[in-house]
Amino acid sequence: MLKVNEIFHSIQGEGAHSGERCVFVRLTYCNLRCSYCDTEYAFYEGEEMSIEKIIDEVEKYDCNLVEVTGGEPLVQKESLNLMTKLCDLGYTTLLETSGSLPIEKVDRRVQIVMDFKTPSSKMSGKNRYENIKFLKPEDEIKFVIGNREDYEWSKKTIENFDLARKNILFSVVFGKLEPVKLVEWLLKDKLNVRFQLQMHKYIWEPERRGV
Ligand code: SF4
Repeated sequence: MLKVNEIFHSIQGEGAHSGERCVFVRLTYCNLRCSYCDTEYAFYEGEEMSIEKIIDEVEKYDCNLVEVTGGEPLVQKESLNLMTKLCDLGYTTLLETSGSLPIEKVDRRVQIVMDFKTPSSKMSGKNRYENIKFLKPEDEIKFVIGNREDYEWSKKTIENFDLARKNILFSVVFGKLEPVKLVEWLLKDKLNVRFQLQMHKYIWEPERRGV
């Protein structure tokens, strides 16, 4: 059984699949408390569901792209079996994880989007850098940047861990840093990263749940 906060159908707002239809399975619980968290409602709220019941819900949307997200999905060990089952059924399966828990047991067919928490999140001490060696070429590393210090830290982290050849995503903390600032910085520094906006926050009201 897994505790599930919500299952919904929307547009993927981030990463390589942005703009595509996607079913989101948001699992309950998180081991972190980021300063800018926009899904605090997923810390405890949810309903116990079997993997079969979750799959039944996902199937209703007739959509081949599924993202397992949270909270932090890897808090619940059963999430590994859910992702494997989704892959077995032929779904393109994404995992959004905070990067603070081990990823080595995640099915290799799953595309991982892993955060590195920047200083303004107040959670940068929780980054599990050992995860880097388990990332596959198609996986992505995301830096959510709230100020210049975060930006400098992210640049240094890319350098220190030799991440330049990975798929790197840079986005702003919504409402904290103007997107134009971040774009100006990365153009000036000629960084080979992918800038992104959380598309869903522009399509709908930023605070809206289930989109
Ligand atoms: S890891 Fe994600 S869900 Fe958990 S506190 Fe941070 S932003 Fe919120």
